[in-house]
Amino acid sequence: MKVMKFGGTSVGKPERMQQVSELITRTDEPVIVVLSALSGTTNALVSIGEAMASGNRELAKQHIDKLETHYQGFISDLLKAETTLAKAKNIVSEHFEFLNIILKISFSEALSKDILAQGELLSTKLFSVYLKEKKIDHALIPALEFMAIDENDEPHVPEIKIKLSRLLQQHSGKKLFITQGYICRNARGEVDNLKRGGSDYSASLIAAAVGASVCEIWTDIDGMHNNDPRIVNKTRPIEQLSFGEAAELAYFGAKILHPASIWPAQFFKVPVKLLNTMEPSAAGTLITEEAGSVGVKAVAAKDGIIAINIKSSRMLLAYGFLRKIFEVFEKYRTSIDMITTSEVAVSVTIDNAGHLDEIVRELEPFGAISVEKNYSIISVVGNEIVQTPDMLKRLFDALSSVPVRMVSYGGSKHNVSILTSSEDKTRTLQLLNKGLFGLE
Ligand code: ASP
Ligand code: MG
Repeated sequence: MKVMKFGGTSVGKPERMQQVSELITRTDEPVIVVLSALSGTTNALVSIGEAMASGNRELAKQHIDKLETHYQGFISDLLKAETTLAKAKNIVSEHFEFLNIILKISFSEALSKDILAQGELLSTKLFSVYLKEKKIDHALIPALEFMAIDENDEPHVPEIKIKLSRLLQQHSGKKLFITQGYICRNARGEVDNLKRGGSDYSASLIAAAVGASVCEIWTDIDGMHNNDPRIVNKTRPIEQLSFGEAAELAYFGAKILHPASIWPAQFFKVPVKLLNTMEPSAAGTLITEEAGSVGVKAVAAKDGIIAINIKSSRMLLAYGFLRKIFEVFEKYRTSIDMITTSEVAVSVTIDNAGHLDEIVRELEPFGAISVEKNYSIISVVGNEIVQTPDMLKRLFDALSSVPVRMVSYGGSKHNVSILTSSEDKTRTLQLLNKGLFGLE
């Protein structure tokens, strides 16, 4: 069994959906296809929910109508036969009728999740109609019947496995299954989701649950790249990454893979492949337990970082100081990303300013606190880079003209991170592209 997940842009146009139907039928292995909503749909559904939440029903209605028009156009381009087009029209009206009914009742948090779920429900149902038109045998498996999260929003693979196996057994003759990414049920049995970009996570959980031979994530770029293609001119895809390296990169802003989707694949030993729908023969990126090669593989940046400095002579020769500081962050459920220390000071970074004022207030008794905003973490990721002989020299040579606020080296063997002002981010990524990869 193989899992193939297609993102919003891979199903966002009728011709893309046609291409997906070809990609999923090229293999002899049974396949579970996980689909996102058509590109732009989830954002539109978020806007609908926000307009309803703020009581602006007129605006919500405008968003709903605009989206419905988009879907009507989409299906008339996608489908050729009258019977299948009629089926698709029914599906579209049914889901938009649902949105219009919600518009009339009083808004709640649970309803907003129902609204968000419409995107993946629509994309999978319409794709299923398209497959019928092409006479491609398949079964549509409802994610809401097997994908679930507990009261802490955590999914459990063994539970998913039990429910999903039961559903798959009901279609024992089939080799092709279509299901929704992103959506699930919560501990109260309500419709919920795995957070934005969560279809990757769905795919990885499903792959873990069925013990898939591979979890393929199909997007519109040929794998993870060595640098941010939106910022530097030349980048190249990374052939192979370990799960550890991929996790570092997924956190540091490489938007291509949802960070949470790493652990199920890693724990249940399913290789992950990042592939490009627009260029299916490209090698993409393979993520497995092994790193493949030694050395620097990529740089990635994360913005919106806040540095907090705590300076105190009481830290000198004292023990337990860091624990007291960490407890403040723990109390406000704010995770620390980087940390550097000297004998009389410690600097930490956070990317969540939600409780910054409270944190600073509670840190004040420990020393002089200063807060600096608008920083970026630039992370250099690779296998055994900490042992790569001239890596640091090349890194610092490349950075000779960039003011560096913090450096984190040795926390793991495959990551060196630096903190710079966000104003310097673009320049830093360009300099590193040249200095570490010889790309300009
Ligand atoms: N449709 C959802 C989103 O846009 C989930 C996904 O595409 O991964 O966030
Ligand atoms: Mg995505």
